[in-house]
Amino acid sequence: MTNPKTIIDIRDGKKVFGSFTALTDINLSIRQGEILTLLGPSGCGKTTLMRLIAGFETLTSGTISIDGNDCAGTPPERRPVNMVFQRYALFPHLDVFENVAFGLKVKGLPKSEVKERVNRMLNIVQLDNFANRYIDEISGGQSQRVALARALVNGPKVLLLDEPLAALDLKIRQHMLAEMKRIHAETGATFVYVTHDQDEAMILSDRVVLMEKGRIVQIDRPEDMYARPKSLFAAKFLGETNLFDATVSAVNGIGTTAVTTAGIPFLGAETQDRQVSERIIVSIRPESLSFQGGEAAQSAEGTVEDVVFIGSRSFYTVRLDDQSPVRIQVQRNGHLALPSVGDRTRIYWDSANVIMLPHA
Ligand code: ATP
Repeated sequence: MTNPKTIIDIRDGKKVFGSFTALTDINLSIRQGEILTLLGPSGCGKTTLMRLIAGFETLTSGTISIDGNDCAGTPPERRPVNMVFQRYALFPHLDVFENVAFGLKVKGLPKSEVKERVNRMLNIVQLDNFANRYIDEISGGQSQRVALARALVNGPKVLLLDEPLAALDLKIRQHMLAEMKRIHAETGATFVYVTHDQDEAMILSDRVVLMEKGRIVQIDRPEDMYARPKSLFAAKFLGETNLFDATVSAVNGIGTTAVTTAGIPFLGAETQDRQVSERIIVSIRPESLSFQGGEAAQSAEGTVEDVVFIGSRSFYTVRLDDQSPVRIQVQRNGHLALPSVGDRTRIYWDSANVIMLPHA
């Protein structure tokens, strides 16, 4: 496969508000046609980065180019991007059709073309039967789709979506994520999506840009970022994990062994340069631990403290001997005998799932 074209390129981007540095060292190439998510906690700079791409803010230093053109000085309306905001600001006095048609009419396009493009877009967002409804006569999820249609009808190369689902409840949000993927596939536009919700980022993205305090800390495919976080921050932000303070005791061709302060050895598959005696953090996800192990598995003993059933899954808390509690997620399965609260048990894991992280 040939490398996809870069549609947006940001080099050494920095944004300062007064004495506050909101973004620094931003280097990011967004590929044409991908869904790229900016993920990070509140205040890390996601919206600011989006507003810089849209042209509502200007960089303090560095460059942004869109489709090969440096866009310093190009106003928002002349950039081939469109932004959908958290509150989608639809016009309540216009019906769905007129809301979507608004931008095209302002541009003075012929009536027949407006009609054709709006109808095509309403078809993509599956609102053909709602064209004549007013905004207060449709649901939150439908309003969201109107906002998407309105942003997409101009045929932007890039759609910027700033927490577009934040106002919707969980069920509609899940449905809209699937819709968003479908609409993305049908339009072929590049989507840049802001969220602080790691599940949304995981479900939607081709790549995730993880941000912390105005910096990009990792860019990866969601599954890679989850399995191979590069920092403690990334490991914790991407989902629940068990963490142990540990010291490297051996490094060889098989991997790295680190021993926790309570004396439990973890062999990790990584063979990158670790130094014996180096202090690290071992991270292992709840679903990477189990009550049964194959031949190559590592293990430790403990006592079951708590069990929580969530449908097909159970979350166990096991207190390892002389160690902090460990969370284990198991898929419930009728054939498998699972321990009960108070039982002594052995837990197992594989070296492939042991994540070793630098101390923060
Ligand atoms: P959230 O998830 O809460 O929306 P965010 O990651 O999108 O957060 P930004 O809105 O980009 O964060 O804000 C980043 C930082 O920059 C925040 O500390 C914010 O207070 C600050 N900031 C943003 N805009 C301005 C401004 N116009 N003037 C001063 N500070 C600003």
